[in-house]
Amino acid sequence: MDNLILIKYGELTTKKANRNTFINLLANNIKKVLKGEDFNLKFDRVRMYIECNNVDFVLEKLKNIFGIHSIVICYKVNNNIESIKQKVLDLLDKETFKTFKINTKRADKSFEIHSMDFNKIIGSYVLKNKQCSVDVHNPDILVTIEIRIEGTFIYTNEIAGLGGYPVGIQGKGMLMLSGGIDSPVAGYLSLKRGVDLECLYFESPPHTSVEAKNKVIKLASIINNYSGNIRVNIIPFTKLQEAIYKSVPDNYVITIMRRMMYRIAEKLAIKNNCKVIINGESIGQVASQTLSSMVAINSVTNFPVIRPVACMDKLEIIDISKKISTYETSILPFEDCCTIFLPTHPIINPDIKKCLLYETLFNYDELIKQCIDNVEVITNLKQDEYSDLL
Ligand code: ATP
Ligand code: MG
Repeated sequence: MDNLILIKYGELTTKKANRNTFINLLANNIKKVLKGEDFNLKFDRVRMYIECNNVDFVLEKLKNIFGIHSIVICYKVNNNIESIKQKVLDLLDKETFKTFKINTKRADKSFEIHSMDFNKIIGSYVLKNKQCSVDVHNPDILVTIEIRIEGTFIYTNEIAGLGGYPVGIQGKGMLMLSGGIDSPVAGYLSLKRGVDLECLYFESPPHTSVEAKNKVIKLASIINNYSGNIRVNIIPFTKLQEAIYKSVPDNYVITIMRRMMYRIAEKLAIKNNCKVIINGESIGQVASQTLSSMVAINSVTNFPVIRPVACMDKLEIIDISKKISTYETSILPFEDCCTIFLPTHPIINPDIKKCLLYETLFNYDELIKQCIDNVEVITNLKQDEYSDLL
């Protein structure tokens, strides 16, 4: 195979005892997305190497994989001066530049020439053969030559990877995914820290439309580009929501509804082996996300709730959603169960005792059971499939 792609691990290298676990999972995640391609993957504690033919395809896939600090397309030659000189020149022939720098890293200490001397040898050879000059401080192009026992790797540009940890290293979280901007970003940020996702969406037909549901599945399939394992659990929420609206005073309906959501999320999280609940709440964004509201809502569960965008401004969240391509779908105008029948004055300082009192007014245990029993699970998410349905 013609091309060699070198992957640097980044933050994984700070791991000591369990570093191999991280690297093995990263390798598996990469193999999974490259399934069907012709490639050969090898790794050690410092680097991963992928030999392949279709470098553009492989590169596009690697750009969505967490746990990769940087990606380098490199050329391998024997540890032999003439071969190295020739390859450096071949590489520079493809680039436009005025100044350059050679940076030799001599990992193989049995190689007889020291790094600094080798920089000079290769640098002089380039100067003799090309119209250019050396700039060691701010070169237009940096040529790295890594002399290792298994061969010499030569490369120029380093492409930034996504960083983070391999998806799944932390197990799974249950993401409460609405059709909004915040929750897909919360999901992406969790994936970045190695938490794989199961998604949960509350739908209230006929009050919410099938387009609203498809929008959520589309959002899940976009973030699934960073995982490959995501499923969406659709909870039929209509009866429970109607019971709340019939029994509870107007200003408390959202608080009680969200307490029900948390109860269901906890049950579904346990059922699906998820260690935490994740959502897109951001402190102070709406009445149900004041700290007092969060306390009243969160008090129905002992399950840990992770809120990756809790301390971000909306504009910061929007920036990320644009970067991960969920924004355009998120802003499609289909109503979610949180936005239908919105009360005029939702409480911002709910009293837990009142919540408990209002919850005696209807049989929520039975309704919650029905929600869980009738969950619809969507698997095999593919990004393009739902685009036509919106
Ligand atoms: P987003 O916060 O995703 O932009 P939103 O602003 O419509 O959507 P909020 O009312 O702010 O949602 O709700 C806060 C969080 O509660 C959401 O980020 C999401 O995690 C969760 N949530 C809200 N509605 C739903 C729903 N219908 N299904 C699942 N989770 C939901
Ligand atoms: Mg929100």
